[in-house]
Amino acid sequence: MRYENLSKAELTILLTELEANYAEAAGKGLKLDMSRGKPSPEQLDLSNGLFDAGKNYVSEDGTDCRNYGGLTGIMEAQNLFAEFMDVPAENVIINGNSSLTVMYDMISRSMTHGVMENPPWCRLEKIKFLCPVPGYDRHFSITEHFGIELIPVPMTETGPAMDIVEKLVSEDASVKGIWCVPKYSNPQGISYSDETVRRFAALQPAAADFRIYWDNAYSVHHFDEEDHDEILNLFHECEKAGHPDLIYIFCSFSKISFAGASISATIASEANLDFIKRLMVPQTIGPDKLNMLRHIDFFGNMAGVKAHMKKHAAILWPKFALVLDKLAQGIGGLGIGTWITPKGGYFISFEAMPGCAKAIIALCKGAGVTMTDAGATYPYRLDPNDSNIRIAPSFPTADELGQAMDLFVLCVKLASVRKLLADV
Ligand code: PLP
Repeated sequence: MRYENLSKAELTILLTELEANYAEAAGKGLKLDMSRGKPSPEQLDLSNGLFDAGKNYVSEDGTDCRNYGGLTGIMEAQNLFAEFMDVPAENVIINGNSSLTVMYDMISRSMTHGVMENPPWCRLEKIKFLCPVPGYDRHFSITEHFGIELIPVPMTETGPAMDIVEKLVSEDASVKGIWCVPKYSNPQGISYSDETVRRFAALQPAAADFRIYWDNAYSVHHFDEEDHDEILNLFHECEKAGHPDLIYIFCSFSKISFAGASISATIASEANLDFIKRLMVPQTIGPDKLNMLRHIDFFGNMAGVKAHMKKHAAILWPKFALVLDKLAQGIGGLGIGTWITPKGGYFISFEAMPGCAKAIIALCKGAGVTMTDAGATYPYRLDPNDSNIRIAPSFPTADELGQAMDLFVLCVKLASVRKLLADV
């Protein structure tokens, strides 16, 4: 029975029942953290072989990886990432442990030195960035940190609303970029359709220094080998459309090997990379090549990576299935929330009734379960509908997850009934 169809008297009886259940749950003394979208220790254990890998410190071309140098990384790592992202190896730079750091650097350099021959952004009156919502909080934080105005663009089932993107990008020269997580997006798990990718490649920006920030963080992170998403390759689509300079692609092995201790890459056109490399020279003598060697030694090639990801999926999917099952059993058919079943990635995105997300998170916290803050998936942490909640199933154990989800379901019901009664 949908809650909205209940009478005031029925809602009041339900409220009393739910409040009693909540008081009982709060008395259990739970202390669980559901906010961390990071791999579990069991997943990290899968890569412990890295500790024994890479005893050889000489790369294929004879470079002594113990020493300085090699601004763009070792050749075999470039080849692996070229295969990973299906791009030519000469378009790949291998960076340090975190792709997010590279994204930060890219914005920082654009502020101080501009993009290619264009003026530094810090000299311009206003800079804007498009932020598909709900989206990844850390993307938004980087641009917010530099005083860039964040413009939310709604996500659809096929990616960002492209009519809006095209209009803003083509009409406003102060729009300099858009954050994209094209596959198994954070937090909805949406993969961009072929049409969306083609429309990105065909963009006609008003600003010559507009770039698409294509953060392909979850490209091989599916749950089922037989049923997973494939996205069109934006690098090739941009070349075909005659816009090779339109994109920066970012990716890393953070959620393949060790989160925060892996290797990352920047992929871009030759012209973009030439410019980026010039700005990297004063910044670093080179990245950690030994860690690259360790990764090559451990994974070998993409076949090795894919085999490894199957092991991650075997750990992750049961946790996602548990969350989806708890939502379906507890909330399905009540009309008080919707969610998307992702085929990969790290999150489940829950849409509560408008005006309920903050209340749900507060209720969960009051009974010992920390969820990602309401609003975190929106620029400036402002969800205009106060409805989106990011669920991160990866880190807790199945037992913890079950307890946390039981409480979450209860809190969604309680907050929804309170809201409906307040609106009567
Ligand atoms: N990009 C997205 C979309 C993410 O969700 C995350 C981590 O959650 C990152 C990047 C972090 O990547 P890295 O560890 O390479 O900095």
